[in-house]
Amino acid sequence: MYDVIIIGAGPAGSSAAKELASNGYKVLLAEKFKLPRNKSCSGILIKKSLDLISQYFGEQVPSSVKCSPADNRGMVFTNDTGREFLFEQPGANIWRSSFDCWLAQKAADAGAILRDCTAAVAYSESEDSVTVTFKSSTSEGGCTFKDCATYTESAKIVIICEGAVSSLKRKYRNASKNYITTYQTFNRGSISLDPHYFYAYLQPRLSQYDAWFNVKDDYLIFGVAVSDTSLTEHYYKEFISYMEHEHNARIEAQVNSEKWIMPHIQPGCPIEYGSGRVLFAGEAAGFLNPMGEGISGGLESGHAAARAVCESGFSSNADLSRILSSYQRLTLDLKNYMERQWGFVAGMAGTFGHMRS
Ligand SMILES: Cc1cc2nc3c(=O)[nH]c(=O)nc-3n(C[C@H](O)[C@H](O)[C@H](O)COP(=O)(O)OP(=O)(O)OC[C@H]3O[C@@H](n4cnc5c(N)ncnc54)[C@H](O)[C@@H]3O)c2cc1C
Repeated sequence: MYDVIIIGAGPAGSSAAKELASNGYKVLLAEKFKLPRNKSCSGILIKKSLDLISQYFGEQVPSSVKCSPADNRGMVFTNDTGREFLFEQPGANIWRSSFDCWLAQKAADAGAILRDCTAAVAYSESEDSVTVTFKSSTSEGGCTFKDCATYTESAKIVIICEGAVSSLKRKYRNASKNYITTYQTFNRGSISLDPHYFYAYLQPRLSQYDAWFNVKDDYLIFGVAVSDTSLTEHYYKEFISYMEHEHNARIEAQVNSEKWIMPHIQPGCPIEYGSGRVLFAGEAAGFLNPMGEGISGGLESGHAAARAVCESGFSSNADLSRILSSYQRLTLDLKNYMERQWGFVAGMAGTFGHMRS
């Protein structure tokens, strides 16, 4: 019997696990994929993320998880009329696979039991616990889950940090598949933009959401986000030809490409906090800032869910409603920040006008 089972070892899950384990709770942190696992990302840690990492993990992000150029100096937005906005702010440029693995290891160092290749497929709540059904694979090359063992573990509380896909949220909360699809490519080549910045383009002819460019090690990364996946290639081609024309992009070879999803945030930024013994955090709860800046929201909401559990002590069922209300209170600033950020982008580009609060 665990005190808390945390499902998903992304920023939300690892920050929750680290906080709970550091406070003496018996924690299981279960991750579906083999660590280090891939997560499509631009890998920009904004200043807020860096500050939260030092606050929650007591350390700076190590240089081993960074890529070149290691320091990100801010973001450049081009709005739907082609006007540029520069936001300078010191941040870091990291590889997500190494960064997330480092966070998970920090949670394990604090005492959390970390199990990768372990997927939660179901849960059921009873009077005094939650039982989670897992599929676990020990396969060397990755987690195939073919002929793998199914078993259960119980805890007083479960925190679901599954990310955008959140199959458990869909299964038990009737959540719809409301996603934005992202597509990004890694290329060798050249461009006349400063690699220290992240560039976001909000012109509707380039994407249905945003298009972006950034540099990681020797790779030029171009991406587009769409709501209609059948138009991905169309927008991607438009974006590349725009970048060739406007910024002298020259692609010598495309080395890799990846498709992913992110939650399609709705006006008012609704959050699924959970109920009873089950809480949601990170993208699974709906925390995501504009232009896909979600690492800080994951870290902060995961930590808040953990704090809510620590503060209540959960000695009786009466504490459950206290946990939920503490969690909502502890994430109030985060939710307000998220609404402000979406409102700000709505003011900058008509593409996001519907997000005006
Ligand atoms: C293309 C792209 C670029 C982005 N760029 C940035 C950026 O530069 N900066 C930034 O701050 N944010 C960025 N984001 C957003 C950021 O990646 C997410 O908001 C953040 O990862 C959310 O953290 P999380 O912990 O909630 O979820 P995740 O990081 O997605 O972690 C969820 C974890 O749960 C695991 N999991 C899922 N289901 C199960 C299950 N059933 N059982 C066990 N484990 C499970 C997954 O494998 C995963 O490891 C980007 C997103 C995309 C798609």
